[in-house]
Amino acid sequence: MSNRLNWIDDELSQLKDAGFYNRIRTISSPQGPSLIVDGKQVLNFCSNNYLGLANNPRVVKAAQEALAQFGAGPAAVRTIAGTTSLHLDLEKRLASFKGVPSAIIFQSGYCANLATLPALVGKEDAIISDELNHASIIDGSRLSGAAIIRYAHCDPADLEKVILENKDNFRRMLVVTDGVFSMDGDIAPLDKILAVTEKYDLLLMVDDAHGEGVLGKGGRGIVDHFGLHGRVDVEVGTLSKAFGVVGGVVAGKSQIIEWLHQRGRPFLFSSAMTPADTGACLEAVNILEESTELVDRLWQNADYFKTEMKKLGFNLGLSTTPITPVMLGEAPLAQQFSRSLFDRGVFAMSLGFPTVPRGKARIRVMISASHTREHLNQGLEAFAVVGKELGVIS
Ligand SMILES: *Cc1c(COP(=O)(O)O)cnc(C)c1O
Repeated sequence: MSNRLNWIDDELSQLKDAGFYNRIRTISSPQGPSLIVDGKQVLNFCSNNYLGLANNPRVVKAAQEALAQFGAGPAAVRTIAGTTSLHLDLEKRLASFKGVPSAIIFQSGYCANLATLPALVGKEDAIISDELNHASIIDGSRLSGAAIIRYAHCDPADLEKVILENKDNFRRMLVVTDGVFSMDGDIAPLDKILAVTEKYDLLLMVDDAHGEGVLGKGGRGIVDHFGLHGRVDVEVGTLSKAFGVVGGVVAGKSQIIEWLHQRGRPFLFSSAMTPADTGACLEAVNILEESTELVDRLWQNADYFKTEMKKLGFNLGLSTTPITPVMLGEAPLAQQFSRSLFDRGVFAMSLGFPTVPRGKARIRVMISASHTREHLNQGLEAFAVVGKELGVIS
């Protein structure tokens, strides 16, 4: 009898006992303000589909047209035979949407980070990283082999202190931060961070996954939000959240994009985005460039929902964006809250350790432009009832 897989069974049962085992619900409808989850129609408060583009008829049609014209798969990595005119169009359009000289697309935001960090820094260098940065930044940083030095969350003074303590020990330093932090919904003080990186002439990279299509004029992102055009070296983004499709993008200075064509490993060694994804993303850019209507509605919805939740007495933490954490404290309470919401037809996930710190469990509500006032009111009513039932509000 072999024992070599027993450790996995042990680990899995420990996860289950501790309440950290991921149980994944199954969706059998397109993404939208409501979903069919485990066979039941529920209000969708979970997805990153900020603008409702995931099932927008124009985006879906563009995917179908690209599929008809270019087929299902790219059939190769981009450097060998996987770059279509569609991929190049999308890169041009994204660069102009973002107001940067150049852009390169990847299979996902995760891949974009895995491509970018190891291309820009190596063993002799250091990455100065916000302590709450996303896992894909952490993984890209580890792959690079550079020293990883953390600074206190959104704290430019601590950033400067860390730089001064370390700057003589390394060949290059790169400072990296999330634009919008996905668990708390707070925005990095990019203007102040840039002031520090400019003072010491360090590379600056921002991962704007939750800011793309959300922050700035018509969703142009965090650099536009702070008016810092031309000064941030690298903007990483995702096409999987507000853009409603799937894919990643790096936008920035021409040399950096040219270098990623030569040294971005997910670009060189993994197949391209599919034609359907690429065509769909192009249409998402068209929609964003035509009008700010969806982005405006997203913010109106978020303002309404957050104001009403605060009136009910809920603690929404640090959020200044449509990401709405409802702070509950202990993980079992957050899990119970989420289950009771689901029973009342509202799908909103609880998040606990290790996704967020111990004792800071929460329900994270993701507001979308696709929610109507009725959807939001239905959600508010469910929160009010469950909040009272569980003694969170009075
Ligand atoms: C979601 C997210 C990613 C990953 O994006 P995908 O396109 O889903 O791979 C990367 N960085 C941050 C900060 C994110 O929030």
